[in-house]
Amino acid sequence: MDRKKFLQTSGLLLAGSMMTKNIAASMSLTNDLLDRSILAASENTPLIDLHVHRSNKQSIEDIIAKSKKSGIHFGVMENVAPWGITNNEELKTYIESLKPYPVYIGLQPMSPGWSKNLSPELIAQADYVAMDPQIIPNGNSYGETIHIWEYATYINNPDAFMERNMQHYMDILTGDEPLNIFACPLFLPVSIQREYNRLWTKKRLSQIIDACRARKIAIEINDLVRVPDEQFILMAKRAGLKFTFGSDTRDEKTGRLDYCRHIAAKCKLTSNDIFIPEREIG
Ligand SMILES: [Zn+2]
Repeated sequence: MDRKKFLQTSGLLLAGSMMTKNIAASMSLTNDLLDRSILAASENTPLIDLHVHRSNKQSIEDIIAKSKKSGIHFGVMENVAPWGITNNEELKTYIESLKPYPVYIGLQPMSPGWSKNLSPELIAQADYVAMDPQIIPNGNSYGETIHIWEYATYINNPDAFMERNMQHYMDILTGDEPLNIFACPLFLPVSIQREYNRLWTKKRLSQIIDACRARKIAIEINDLVRVPDEQFILMAKRAGLKFTFGSDTRDEKTGRLDYCRHIAAKCKLTSNDIFIPEREIG
């Protein structure tokens, strides 16, 4: 271990133990559980939130300040989509804009086929690619594209939707485009959320886990919409999959990870279960 690395590691240990104390000070049972699992088992591993966006409410400087204050390491993402990155020049500008900062650089494409107009060398400069299954073309029998995060999604037949939804999951997971993290898994349109347990059958869960395992794709635990659930996390853990924490935030909520901490403690995840991008950040 060289000096720089030693200082970095001891700094992280210090940050880790300070964080443990802070958490202990404002104690809840949930955080107490967290101390005993993630932090205690891996003191030198800081919490990492790989799903943060810049916005007009949150600059990169704000994100760095939150990182310093909380001890959380962040990964910043940009969408590869009509409203985000659409070509090589924009991709290069995005990567260059984050390089000076101690954050991981992530890409979040929205639809399969996203990489065909982009340079593989540029894509490889990102630390990770995360993709969620939230835009589903032909998601109902009216031929509509379903945006799962919108309240007014129209699902006329939940079982038919799940068939289509699984097809969409597999298009993403079994494709040949770069993918490190499957984001926001199992989140359902609000109109059918109360049927979550019936619709997410063991068979479907296994199919998703098998597809992730085949390509070593990690599972995001999404803090904002509180997915996936304990059962899925434990199944994925048994299958040897890694996990990430994703706050899915772009504003004052960045820095919170309440669901991630709670469910990770409940499922006894440790640093060995966490996906960490290879590049070292400051
Ligand atoms: Zn996002």
